Amino acid sequence: MSHLIQLEQIVPSKVCFSCDVCCRFLEQDSFLAPIFTQAEMKRAIANGVNPDFFRPTADRKSARVKLIPNGDMYICPCFNPETSECTIYPIRPLDCQIYPFALMYNQDHTRVVLGVDMICPYGEAEIQQEAFQHYIDYMASYLESDSVVETIAANWQLIGTYQETVVIVCTLEKLTLARTENGALV
Ligand code: SF4
Ligand code: SF4
Repeated sequence: MSHLIQLEQIVPSKVCFSCDVCCRFLEQDSFLAPIFTQAEMKRAIANGVNPDFFRPTADRKSARVKLIPNGDMYICPCFNPETSECTIYPIRPLDCQIYPFALMYNQDHTRVVLGVDMICPYGEAEIQQEAFQHYIDYMASYLESDSVVETIAANWQLIGTYQETVVIVCTLEKLTLARTENGALV
């Protein structure tokens, strides 16, 4: 994705600043560490992120950040633990912008789905609310728009593995079709 995207956010900043879930990980090689497309990685590097903090994904089309130790956890190298802020917030990758949504495969690997991660306390508390349901529609429409499908098709690693903590809210039909056509779904 070469253009800069800024998705609307539903979780209020003050909620996030009093939460310690995002940007911190239990394992250094966590599969939840964010994925950057090539364009996102280049933009981050141009804004001061050390290129050594990126490791190419297996297909070499995108990159995953290398997490760094912080206390008994691991953090994204773009995270400032003193202020709890993302140092590249305006240009953070799509993978981060969509959270607490997860773009992933369903459990039997037949569909690409959108889900809400119940590890996010706001997502868990609000998922049934009307405003959140509208936001689900907004997020699904965005991820199924032609330009985003094209971007994800160039960065398949953006579709993560099934996670039990995620409540599936819909199937992403265009992405499922695209993934079926290139033989990645059973
Ligand atoms: S888990 Fe949810 S509430 Fe906590 S920082 Fe992340 S988005 Fe914000
Ligand atoms: S890029 Fe920013 S929002 Fe994403 S994990 Fe790193 S610090 Fe958090």
